[in-house]
Amino acid sequence: MSEKLLLHACCCHCAAYTIQHWKDLGYDLTVFWYNPNIHPYTEHQQRLVALRKMSEIQGFKLIENPNYDMVDFLKLVTEKPENRCYYCFTMRLQETARMAREMNMGVFSTSLLISPLQKHDLLPLVGKEQEQKQNVNFLYEDLRKHYSDSRRITKPLGLYTQKYCGCILSEYERYRDFPPKDDDGLYAPAPRENLYFCD
Ligand code: SF4
Repeated sequence: MSEKLLLHACCCHCAAYTIQHWKDLGYDLTVFWYNPNIHPYTEHQQRLVALRKMSEIQGFKLIENPNYDMVDFLKLVTEKPENRCYYCFTMRLQETARMAREMNMGVFSTSLLISPLQKHDLLPLVGKEQEQKQNVNFLYEDLRKHYSDSRRITKPLGLYTQKYCGCILSEYERYRDFPPKDDDGLYAPAPRENLYFCD
């Protein structure tokens, strides 16, 4: 019998190839949505709707955590914004591992492993921490070389594509560093030395 895998999905574009990859290796896979790091709420919903559409098209199982724990997330990351990605990964993978244990699934993983835009080295660290705490195995593989393969799967589907990582801090950084062309000076860069965000 195939081993059951609960795969945390950060967005449809990272999930696409990741799902295919683990399915091809024989896992009985369920996709799990829990991303209280995505702000604002309208952005969170757009990304969730895109994943739901992909689930309908491709026929994979999708479980959604109905909680949008934005306040808990902000409490965690604003204490130490320079370490915010560690807390962000921890919050999401902790919930994924907890859910996997509750559902008697042997392993958990995350689509974040395919993104070259994430702090990749933190992911196996956080995954192993949660593996030990919750007694569910964390499935790790560096899938970053397949990021463009994943985008090739979703491109023809015309699904919503985000423009920044997720949290309100990343939204600020994205528009600070890559302002829209017709901004009339609205997005002029702030003095970076006054910022506490991780670069
Ligand atoms: S930049 Fe991305 S990974 Fe880091 S805290 Fe913000 S949403 Fe999470």
